[in-house]
Amino acid sequence: MTASTGSAAYPSRPAERDAWILSRRGSQGSSAGRRLVSANRAYGAFVEDELDGDGVVRRVATILLTNRECPFRCLMCDLWQNTLAETVPAGAIAAQIDAALAELPAVDIIKLYNSGSFFDPRAIPPRDLPEIAARLRGFRRVIVECHPAFVGDDVGRFRDALKGQLEVAMGLETIHPEALERLNKRMTLESYARAADRLRELDVGIRAFVLVQPPFLPVAEAADWAVRSAEFAFDHGTGVVSLIPVRASNGALDALAQQGEFLPPRLATLEDAFDRSLALGRSRVFADTWDLKRFSTCPACFHAREQRLRTMNLTQRLMPRAGCATCHDT
Ligand code: SF4
Ligand SMILES: [Zn+2]
Repeated sequence: MTASTGSAAYPSRPAERDAWILSRRGSQGSSAGRRLVSANRAYGAFVEDELDGDGVVRRVATILLTNRECPFRCLMCDLWQNTLAETVPAGAIAAQIDAALAELPAVDIIKLYNSGSFFDPRAIPPRDLPEIAARLRGFRRVIVECHPAFVGDDVGRFRDALKGQLEVAMGLETIHPEALERLNKRMTLESYARAADRLRELDVGIRAFVLVQPPFLPVAEAADWAVRSAEFAFDHGTGVVSLIPVRASNGALDALAQQGEFLPPRLATLEDAFDRSLALGRSRVFADTWDLKRFSTCPACFHAREQRLRTMNLTQRLMPRAGCATCHDT
């Protein structure tokens, strides 16, 4: 469901894009609208397995922190749906972490994903960082997410306050020049590379999010661009590439889809991107399997294909493609 059926084309002028994207949002509670979330509570918390850098599969806790919306307006972003309009009160983030951890089993690794940038001072109050770090001393690795623009001095201070290793996840998205610019991320390959250099100087790990089939690049080249983007991320020191198939559900991408400017990837495109990125043999590559079914058109082979991706995530070994006598989609 789109929030707006306005047929105005996506602006070519960067200054007009925020308004176009914002106007496609749905009303609160609708499928493309903001949800009711609270500064008192993380909006999600779960534990899953992930292959760690030393080849051991470990349990990883992910806490989806509730905080103020990211200041950027990326075309593909739906993370704002679980955010607040205002900065959270002092102590709220630490309290969210305490409450979430109390309900999860004990694990070694934690991801704190905040629908924006962990080092954005209006999202996570900087004065709270020592208190947050104190909660995290029992973890061997702490992973947070951040736009390159917010990779600054707080990263080193937070790293120093932890006992375990800090890793920062950044959205590289794509190295396709036109697509990256039109995604409205306000980031260039140079600014990504500068932030990655800074993280490496600080001995902070890097994880890169790469989009599979964003708008504004040829669909037939979608897997190629994902692989090339993964290579760029590896060249700039990332230890993990996470491949994210682009989903429409934020209003803006749904509107672009209606205009014929966006097509969600096929499952086979994600598989191609994953197989080929893994075959580079550079470092870990994960395929994001959340809500994977929406990219499948064939119930006959979906389960086997999903299982293959999950197994490859945990082993980092290429497996033969399943093939399907029903859809012939390989
Ligand atoms: S920087 Fe990340 S959280 Fe912020 S709008 Fe872009 S994709 Fe969304
Ligand atoms: Zn099939």
